[in-house]
Formats: sequence, structure tokens, C-alpha cells
Amino acid sequence: MNVDKIMNELEKKNPGEVEYLQAVREVLESIEEVVNENPQIEAAGIIDRLIEPDRILTFKVPWLDDKGQVHVNRGFRVQFNNAIGPYKGGLRFHPSVNLSILKFLGFEQIFKNSLTTLPMGGGKGGSDFDAKGKSDAEIMRFCQSFMLELWNIIGPETDVPAGDIGVGGKEIGFMFGMYKKLTHTHVGVLTGKGLNWGGSLVRPEATGFGCVYFAQEMLKTKGTDFKGKTVAISGFGNVAWGAALKVTELGGKVVTISGPDGYIYDADGISGEKIEYMLELRASNQDIVKPYSYEFPNSKFVQGTRPWEVKCDIALPCATQNELNKEDALNLINNGCMAVAEGANMPCTPEAVELFLEHKILFAPGKASNAGGVATSGLEMSQNSMKLAWGKEEVDRRLHEIMKNIHEACVKHGKDSAGFVNYVKGANVAGFLKVAQAMMDQGII
Ligand code: NDP
Repeated sequence: MNVDKIMNELEKKNPGEVEYLQAVREVLESIEEVVNENPQIEAAGIIDRLIEPDRILTFKVPWLDDKGQVHVNRGFRVQFNNAIGPYKGGLRFHPSVNLSILKFLGFEQIFKNSLTTLPMGGGKGGSDFDAKGKSDAEIMRFCQSFMLELWNIIGPETDVPAGDIGVGGKEIGFMFGMYKKLTHTHVGVLTGKGLNWGGSLVRPEATGFGCVYFAQEMLKTKGTDFKGKTVAISGFGNVAWGAALKVTELGGKVVTISGPDGYIYDADGISGEKIEYMLELRASNQDIVKPYSYEFPNSKFVQGTRPWEVKCDIALPCATQNELNKEDALNLINNGCMAVAEGANMPCTPEAVELFLEHKILFAPGKASNAGGVATSGLEMSQNSMKLAWGKEEVDRRLHEIMKNIHEACVKHGKDSAGFVNYVKGANVAGFLKVAQAMMDQGII
């Protein structure tokens, strides 16, 4: 396999799709060796078929604001690959959403879902809608309009979307309501549902919990754990709050959270009532980061920079893609950070990842360390199919088990002769091999 040749052609076909091209290159570079060792993969055209999404739906989403003014957003669903199960992946509502970002996320999702050991293919969708400052009624009208187009190509055995940036339980509820009305069915077509209508316990905190469970396994390989460790977290959304909760439970101290304008540093630790306070602000669509510094005066708001300049033992980037660059990585390394686990998707730039690997820092790529969210979505689908609901301990036990298995798979495929585990390679190879085998079994389609 010639990675540069494939990338040149892909660039010509998808000009300017920076995030998508970045994600594909990362995967291809780490599976190159295994592809070259298995000529049947190339003979079956697996790579060419894998980097082209099965289909993409783009649609108009018109909606009325509270003053009666008309707005039009753009909606997308990228159905990337369903070799091992129905398409599965979140919906992102954020003004930055474009096709490149959704294709990168959908592509990553194929391997992540494969790693979970559950039968789920890869997909992603969303819209450039900005929920900031919108009333619940406006969010509802937007979600209903979005579902008026999407419903036709999704289904519990076809494509099962979930949440992502800007899409939490509230938005899933509004979209589920419209799907139900249009189809006259009450089925598990979305995950992240409310507990009273088909949702799973632990789903809201699963991505953050899973990320910490994965980091815990990495720390174990160095004979240590979270007790007494200082942890820097970015963002304070669906992923970050679960991570903050679990780190605290395991005896670590979370000292930062962040938003797009800057970060909070709280040397006393961000836990307990502080997390509750921020969840309340989140539920009312309000800014979280600045009000935190007014409410808890021992903390400080640092404007315009990122939390990676703070001294910490462990970093969990949980906000968005490319939020931790080379300079941030150098800061972390120089400050003695020993482990970085990505809670977000692709938060570390390729240059940052290269530095972590070069300095033998424990580094977990998102497709492994944040797979707990989609894994628990898979568990929600299982519960929906069986028409029963597991208790909290049961779901958490399964999630924990899955994260341990993913860690094991990464070690199996990523450990070098000197004993260093390259988790990027391990995750990509393990995720890829299963999908490639399924595609070969199913013929050229
Ligand atoms: P949320 O919208 O709930 O949270 C995102 C958080 O990041 C918010 O606190 C947001 O602040 C902050 N943020 C957004 N942009 C920036 C930025 N440029 N710099 C710093 N902070 C920023 O999203 P999720 O928590 O759901 O998703 C976060 C990441 O995790 C994404 O990469 C997503 O793809 C990934 N992920 C999510 C999963 C899930 O289950 N939700 C599963 C697996 C991965 P503000 O609200 O002020 O804008």
C-alpha cells in the first residue's frame, strides 16, 4: 500500500477537507504494515472501499424562532460503513459543522465501533445549528424540522444516531418525539434516550467514565493509578463532566475545565457540588466557565488560553478536535504529565501525538479511550431489543469490561519489542482488521 499515493488521490477528490484527510492519513499510516503483510486486503480493494462513505444525505432545515423569523440551517448524515452492524454515530449541532468534520468523525467511528466488540457500523451527522442562547421552544422546532428529513434513512436495524457536541438528552428527546409521530413506532432508533422511554442508565456519563477506565488501565501498566494525581480536563460538556466525576471517585483531583474563551483553574479541585452547579447551568443553555469563577472565588478564569499550560499528571482533552497542539504537548511534557487520554475525537494534532509517542508518554487516541459512549449506546440498543432495562451496576460493569478489552486489544496490536505500547497503532490495527475481514466475507458491494 502506498499511503502518499492514496492520500494524493483522496485530496484531489475531497479538496479542502482538512479534518477528514487528517483522520484518514493517521489510520492509513498505522495500518500500512498489516496491510502489506496481508495481500488479500489490497486484492479486495478494502482501503479504496473503506475511505469512501456508503452514502451522504444533505438537507435543508428551516425553522421559526420565537419572534416568528425564519432560519435555515444545513443538515447532514454520513453513512460510512455498515460491514459489522447498522450505522452508528452521533449527531453534532455546532456552527462549525461541515462535511469534512462529519466525514472525519464518521470514518473514526468505524474503527471505534469495531473496537467495542459490539455489532455497530460507522456513521455521523449533524447540523451547523447553534443552540447557544436559543430557547427550549426554538431548539424543539429545530430538532423537529431536522428529523422531518432524517427519519427516512434511519431505523433500529439501519442507522441509529446518538448525541455529540450540542446534542444531549433534550435534543434526543425532541428528535425521538418527531420520529415516533412520523412512523407510528416506538423503537430504539436513537440512543441517549430518557430513562423513562428506552434510555440506559449510565449512558450520560459513559464516555467520560470509559475514558477514565481506559486511562486507569494505562496507568496500571506503569504500576500506578489515579490516587493523588492532578488531572487537567478541557471542555465541560457530556464527556468532561463524566470524566471529572470518575476521576474524583478514583481519588484524583481535577483542576481545570474549559470553554471556547478560556479555562478555569481551581486548585481546590472540581468535584461534588461544583459539578452539580455546572450541570444546572448546562441544562439552562448558559455559559459555564465564567460563572464558575464568580461562584467559587478560589478559582480563576484564564482568558484566551488552554488548560494545557497547567502542571498536571494526567491530561484528558474532552472538548473538540485539534484543541491540543505541539506547543501544548511540549508544555505538558515539560511539566511532567505522564498520561494523555482523549475524551474528545481527535483533540490532539498529529504533531502533538508525535511528541507524546516520541517521549514515551502514555497516549490513548479517542477511538479507543472515548469508545465507552458508543459502547453504552450499543448496550442501550441491546436493552431496547430485549425490551428490558439493566440496573446501573450491570451497565457500568459491562462498560468497564469493554474498556478493559479495548485496552487489551491495543496492547496486543501496539506493543513493540522494547515493551512500549503505541496505542494509536494498536487501536487502528485492531479496529481495522475486524472491519476488513467482514468486508472481505461480504464480497464487493
Ligand atoms: P458538548 O457540547 O456536551 O461539550 C463540548 C464542550 O467543549 C463544552 O463545554 C464546550 O464549551 C467546549 N468547547 C467547545 N469548543 C471548544 C473549544 N474550541 N475550546 C475549548 N472548549 C470548547 O459535547 P460532548 O461532550 O458530547 O463532546 C465533546 C467531544 O467528545 C467531541 O469531540 C465529541 O465528538 C466527543 N465524543 C462525545 C461522545 C458523547 O457521548 N457525547 C462520545 C465520544 C466522543 P461551550 O459549551 O461553552 O461551547
